Amino acid sequence: MKEKGELKMKILLFTAIFICFSINIYAQAKTNDSILTKIKDVGNHQSQVKMLTYELSDVYGQRLTGSREYLAAAKWASIKMKEVGLTNVHFENYCTNCLGWNVKSFNVEMQSPNYMHITAYPLAWTKGTNGTVEGDVINIDSFSDMDSIKHRYAGILRNKIILLGKEPVFNPMPDPISKRYSTKELENMQQLLIAENQTKPLPEAIEAFRNEYSKDSTFLRFAEDEGVLAVFKPSASAAGLMKVGGTYYYKDNDFKPLPYFIIMPEHAGRLIRLINQGKVPKVKLNLETIIYNEPDNNVNIIGEIKGCDPKLNSEVIMIGAHFDSWHSGTGATDNGGNCMVLLEALRILKKSGIVPKRTIRLAFWGGEEQDFNGSVAYATKQCGKLDSKPNRESEKVSAYLNLDDGIGAIRGIYLQENVFARPVFEEIFGAFSADEKYYTTIENNTDTDHETFNHYNIPSFAFIQDPLDYSILSHHKMLDLPEYTLESDMKKNAIFLAWTIYSLASKDEMVPRKIKK
Ligand SMILES: [Zn+2]
Repeated sequence: MKEKGELKMKILLFTAIFICFSINIYAQAKTNDSILTKIKDVGNHQSQVKMLTYELSDVYGQRLTGSREYLAAAKWASIKMKEVGLTNVHFENYCTNCLGWNVKSFNVEMQSPNYMHITAYPLAWTKGTNGTVEGDVINIDSFSDMDSIKHRYAGILRNKIILLGKEPVFNPMPDPISKRYSTKELENMQQLLIAENQTKPLPEAIEAFRNEYSKDSTFLRFAEDEGVLAVFKPSASAAGLMKVGGTYYYKDNDFKPLPYFIIMPEHAGRLIRLINQGKVPKVKLNLETIIYNEPDNNVNIIGEIKGCDPKLNSEVIMIGAHFDSWHSGTGATDNGGNCMVLLEALRILKKSGIVPKRTIRLAFWGGEEQDFNGSVAYATKQCGKLDSKPNRESEKVSAYLNLDDGIGAIRGIYLQENVFARPVFEEIFGAFSADEKYYTTIENNTDTDHETFNHYNIPSFAFIQDPLDYSILSHHKMLDLPEYTLESDMKKNAIFLAWTIYSLASKDEMVPRKIKK
């Protein structure tokens, strides 16, 4: 058995080297066209991206960080990575004290002065009620001045439900709701000389994020101490859309907030107007949640295509997308569909028999919605602590590419102020015809995992994607569902990425770094 296995290995190794070698000759003989043609053929005619996105979303959505659903989805993704032909597929833990949380059941109804079924959804990591409870709704429009809130409300909130916020005011919906970038807009982005969107150093960005999302803790503690049954907050949206994130109290030693719901903005409007008219609404509700600490659920999912060049295959092109989602939708547009686009891009390369010189490493991150927990843990382990100099290992990463800006067609790349990288991408994008032109912009894209790798001076990039209806309809909303993904755009993105990743991994030089040594 052993000898047979060794012989098989030798044949496989020989085949891989042969493909690597022959592709190089091909490339030298200006056969890039035929590689791109092959990529397009597999990507257009044998695409699996739609079915992968449907299965991930419908069977394995939602994927809240720390939850059992997240781990089940991660196991499924690792099987898919192996089926595609990736090697070294494994999990890496990113948090030992990030809690899982699930909704088991809930219902919210106005009982008087009239019946209304209130469209609501609990924020993540809140506690449940003790069975069905009923109380009068009172409106507190802001908790910014806690002293005056305590002065005014201490002793009168027992068994009340607080509606927190002002009556929502709506602007007309934009027309059109779904938008693609015009050539003019893309040209303007390309001509920009200095980035307009400035980035913060990563530790500062993480700190700001945590401060922003924990500023309601004093109010929530006060409300619970006073015997409040639940807190409602109007969804920051319009047209009945429900934008539901979490409280950010997701660590083991964080305090656990009382039942806290986002409610439909129009329903919040009716409740506030009733109160203003002297008709106190009475609401009946129940919420059953479970909170648990199962550190094994907190994993990044990693897989590779090993490079075939013995001199270059210790260098890496990394591609990544966050795999976690919020819990009211199924995480199709943010960001499961993009994970499946990256997987499809590598499937296209494997299926086409195209072997890159450098190693391509795919990472699905957990905990992105909680200040990039997954990618920060990975980078800290691989590239050094956040407050120390990037280590030698980080210098082997030629580039990191991140996909997380909605699910629209890719139109170009954010260079993140790396002027030296522009000619590299212009050359790669030049392989596409004029009617499928891709652009470069010096601009920074922020608020997702490429910021982690940028911190280590690794050339890190995000993509310009057509906005479509992402920010209005599905981003962090109940409509984060596969209905708002477009197969045609995802197929196009997988083809573009397969070509771009292969090209970066097969260049003689690494991608130039923003800060030279
Ligand atoms: Zn996202």
